Amino acid sequence: MSTSTFQSLGLRDEILTAIAELGYETPMPVQEAVIPYLLGDHNDVIALAQTGTGKTAAYGLPVLQRVDAERRTTQAIILSPTRELCLQICDDLRDYSRYLPGLHVVPVYGGTSIEAQIRSLKKGAQIIVATPGRLIDLMNRGVAQLDQVENVVLDEADEMLNMGFSESIDEILAGVPADRNTLLFSATMGPEIERIAKSYLHDYKEIVIGSRNEGAEHVNHVYYLVKAQDKYAALKRIVDYYPRIYAIIFCRTRMETQEVADHLIRDGYNAEALHGDLAQAQRDLTMQKFRQHCTQFLVATDVAARGLDVDDLTHVINYGLPDDIESYIHRSGRTGRAGKRGTSISIIHVREKSKIRAIERVIFTGEHSDRHFESAQLPEPDEICTKQLYHVIDQFEHVEVDDDQIAAFLPEVNRKLAWLSREDLIKRLVTAEFGRFMRYYADAPEIVQPDDRSTRESRREGKNGGERGKREAKGGGKTVHVAEEGYRRLFINRGKRDHFFAREIINIVNRYVKGKVEIGRIDLLPTIAFFEVPEESAEDVIRMMAKAKVGDRRVVVDWADREDTDARPAPRRAERPAPSRRRNAKEKSRGSESKPERKGKKFSKEDWKQFFNS
Ligand code: AMP
Repeated sequence: MSTSTFQSLGLRDEILTAIAELGYETPMPVQEAVIPYLLGDHNDVIALAQTGTGKTAAYGLPVLQRVDAERRTTQAIILSPTRELCLQICDDLRDYSRYLPGLHVVPVYGGTSIEAQIRSLKKGAQIIVATPGRLIDLMNRGVAQLDQVENVVLDEADEMLNMGFSESIDEILAGVPADRNTLLFSATMGPEIERIAKSYLHDYKEIVIGSRNEGAEHVNHVYYLVKAQDKYAALKRIVDYYPRIYAIIFCRTRMETQEVADHLIRDGYNAEALHGDLAQAQRDLTMQKFRQHCTQFLVATDVAARGLDVDDLTHVINYGLPDDIESYIHRSGRTGRAGKRGTSISIIHVREKSKIRAIERVIFTGEHSDRHFESAQLPEPDEICTKQLYHVIDQFEHVEVDDDQIAAFLPEVNRKLAWLSREDLIKRLVTAEFGRFMRYYADAPEIVQPDDRSTRESRREGKNGGERGKREAKGGGKTVHVAEEGYRRLFINRGKRDHFFAREIINIVNRYVKGKVEIGRIDLLPTIAFFEVPEESAEDVIRMMAKAKVGDRRVVVDWADREDTDARPAPRRAERPAPSRRRNAKEKSRGSESKPERKGKKFSKEDWKQFFNS
């Protein structure tokens, strides 16, 4: 928490008034560190800070303060990798300089007519915000005159280098007075940044905001290992599992970007593509729609998404990993901003595993050095559908009804729907909202994830949030599940057909078992389930669960068979299954339902019935 104020940082009143009007109350850490330093003389600085940390004001406010608005000459240049960022910086500086009369900030960037920019510069611009290529063009034409420049800012310097602007930056820096201040802002510190620092910065101070990789703080890094042909189906499962997701899906090429976006759109998602083959006007519109949350998924290449500034992404999805670690850091740094948590998900194939380790070594440093990527299992169709269904219901519950507005239509609506019962109405409403998932997951492609050694190992070590690995052994042709070390496997006579999923099991155990009992691995079957509890609690759990009921039906919890936990222990006489359940028990004895659900299990009509009738 900041203790200083903007006043105490030494800013002038006109700037203080402007930022107060923007609602800036206290300086952000990067501003606290950078502003007083830059207000001094001959102070070069490298600040490692990502977009979203308040870096524009950190360099913008002192630069504005140092500019003499009486003089028309260019006194500061700010270089940015993209036109979007250029315009954004310019907007911010204009806001900050609202009460500095005579001060002109002019943006110049490629991809648009140079004539209008020449006219603007000729009117006089104390600050030019530029993309490197266009600035060189304007320097060569003699329009951008930089001999009086006192401050040079390289914003997102690592991005500019990634985009191949290294030589342009050299050329520009060679064309400005040697005794200027140079301020370099970058999200990452690579060898090229160090080269620029050594060549062009004098006696610079390095300011690191948060850790060198701020992203590590608020971002969970997760990967799903899948076969190449399952990538898109895996993407669908992931995005379906998060009904409130708002994400950028990064692809490697323009073609892949367009293909993924087309598929998503075809499959009913609110998605758009953003890549270099699109006209600038189209790209602007796409970005604007995404910023305003009119689009839920932006499928983009790294280059096209640069400069797009969105603070509230819930997820970044890497549809394959980028070639270089810096790009991964930039991608993942787009989520987990402004104090919120975010998740960076990578859908990768086996050959990309080594890249994960390489990224880990770079992003999990210092205090984060014991962190790892989480290797995750794709959600099952039934888990996805349950989540989506609850989301739909939740939305219904929270719809704000404007009674006055709909009053006039209600008689007609009532007349038309009078023949439907309440149940029918609910079913139809849910189906209308939920039908897409229902249809897809009734016949969803099976996804078999390749064996991920590190998943099992790290899970066993308890590194990934405590989810324990599956321990299986083959015995007599059957799969024998062995409880995790220190745990006992218990049986419960409720299954998915009883609408009993992990949450229901946890809830009922919590309700009947005194004290907190940790529940480990859960295996859900259609009519029964198994769950693991710590060895020392197992007996207590069985004892206390003896009283458990759902409605007026008893729930039985007992030891799972030690030899073959797929086999349901014989029910005691008093607990014989009800007639409808006897059929299931029979099926089981034929072996048709004796195995735990496999990946990609279809969501059957029976399951839907359970949903609607429960
Ligand atoms: P930036 O990293 O420059 O892109 O800034 C991220 C966001 O934080 C922008 O929307 C700024 O307007 C906002 N911002 C910058 N400084 C402050 C501050 N001191 N208080 C509140 N918001 C700020």
